[in-house]
Amino acid sequence: MRRTALLLALAVALSGPLHAQHATKIGNAAMTTAGKLREQALQADTGWKVVESLTTEVGPRLAGSEADARAVTWAIAKFKALGYDKVWTQPVSFPRWERRSESVHVLGGSSQSLHATALGGSPGGTVEGEIVRFADLASLEAAPAGSLAGKIAYVDHTMSRARDGSGYGAASRIRTRGPSAAIRAGATGYIMRSAGTDLHRNPHTGITRFDEGLAPIPAASLSLPDAQQLTRLLDIGPVRLRIALDCGWNGEYTSQNVIGEITGRSKPNEVVVIGGHLDSWDQGTGAIDDAAGVGITMAAGHLIGSLPKAQRPARTIRVIAFANEEQGLHGGVAYAKSQAGNIRNHQIGAESDFGAGRIYAFQSKVPDYAKQALGQIAMALEPLGIEWRTDGEGCGPDVGPIASLGMACAGLAQDGTDYFDYHHTPDDTLDKIDPQALAQNVAAYAVFAYLSADAQGDFGSAPKPAEAGK
Ligand code: ZN
Ligand code: ZN
Repeated sequence: MRRTALLLALAVALSGPLHAQHATKIGNAAMTTAGKLREQALQADTGWKVVESLTTEVGPRLAGSEADARAVTWAIAKFKALGYDKVWTQPVSFPRWERRSESVHVLGGSSQSLHATALGGSPGGTVEGEIVRFADLASLEAAPAGSLAGKIAYVDHTMSRARDGSGYGAASRIRTRGPSAAIRAGATGYIMRSAGTDLHRNPHTGITRFDEGLAPIPAASLSLPDAQQLTRLLDIGPVRLRIALDCGWNGEYTSQNVIGEITGRSKPNEVVVIGGHLDSWDQGTGAIDDAAGVGITMAAGHLIGSLPKAQRPARTIRVIAFANEEQGLHGGVAYAKSQAGNIRNHQIGAESDFGAGRIYAFQSKVPDYAKQALGQIAMALEPLGIEWRTDGEGCGPDVGPIASLGMACAGLAQDGTDYFDYHHTPDDTLDKIDPQALAQNVAAYAVFAYLSADAQGDFGSAPKPAEAGK
C-alpha cells in the first residue's frame, strides 16, 4: 500500500462511524476531472507566460511606486484575458517607502566601498562610527544601554540553507528586530550580514521595523561576500564605517488587491482562495517573489475555468493578487477585514509565496471529519511527487490574517533550497525559474483548488470566538 493510500485508509477510519453522517467527501467524477486537470497543467505553459509577462512588462514593483499602479492594471487585464468570470479590486492603503540612493564605505587605511542596501522602512541619513560586531541577535539584545553610543552595530549571523527555508526565521528576525536592539544600546547606525544563502555580491533587502518610542537609525544589509570582508577587517583591528542612505517614508498610498473569480457551478457564494502577492522589492523583477505565486495561481484558476460548465466545481475559485505583502501583509490584512463576517463561506485557502521550486509536500490541519477528503486531495497530488504530511499545518503569509479569523488553510510546500540565493536581491529574475517546476506547481494548485471547491462538506472554516469581536 502506498503511503498516501495508507494514510487515507487511516483517515477514513478516523472520520467514521462517529462522524459518518457529515464526513467531508469528494465524488469520483471530481477525482477523474482533477486527474485530467493535473495532466493538462503539466503540458501547458500558461503559468510561465504569466510570470514572463509580469516580470517583463511591469518589472520591479515596489509597493507604492509608480510600478505598483501598473501592476494593478496588468493584473486586471491578465485575469480578463485568461477568461475569469469576475474581476474586481479592493483598495489597500499603507505608508509609502522610497529608496533613492545608498552607499556603505570603510573609512581609514583600508578605505573601500561595500555592497549594501537599505532595509525597507529604514530612514535616510549619513552616519559614521566604529563597528561593533555581534555574532547573533541575542548578543546584540544583551548589549547594555549606552554601550554602543556613537557606534554602528553589526550582526554577523550566517543563514543556513534548507529545503523548507527554516534558516530564514532566525535571519529575518535579525533584520526586523536588530535595529531596535541597536538603538536601545545607543547605536547611531545598523548593519547586518544579509539574510541569504548565496555568495554573490548582492545584498538582500527586506522590511525592518522600529519599536514605538525609538528614534529610527539608518539600517542596511551587506552582501555575504562584503560581510565576510568586513569581518576580516575587524579581525585585523577597529573599523570605522560610513553608512549613507537616501530613503524613507513619504506619505500614504492606496493600491489594490486584484481578484479574479471562476464562478462555482452550484455554490457560487462559497469560495476557495488561492493567490500570491503582486508587489515585489525593487532591485530584481520579483520573479520568484512573487510573480511565480501570481502566475501559478492565475494559471490554475484559468485551467479550472476552461472546463466545460457541467464540470465546473461546486464552489467559486477566487484567485487573489495581494497588494503590498512585503512591507507588512497589507493586502492580506485588508482582505481579512473585508471578509471577517464571511468566514464560513471560505471553504479553504492557500497561498504560493516561496518561489518556483517543485512542491514536495501537502499539509493542512483540518477536523477529523474532513481528513478523508484531505486524503483524497493528497491521492490526486501524489503523482506529482507530493507527499501528504498529516502532522503539518502550513498557510501562506497573505492568507494568514483570514486564517487567524477561522478560515481553513492548506500549505503546498515548495522546495526552497535555492530560494534564499535570490530572494530580495537584484538576482530575483525570470531565468531563475524552471518552467517544468512551475508547471508542476500549477498542476498542484489546480488539483487542490478544484477538489476542495467540489468537496461535499467543509474543511472546518468557522469564525474563531476569540477573534470575532476584533
Ligand atoms: Zn513573498
Ligand atoms: Zn519577499
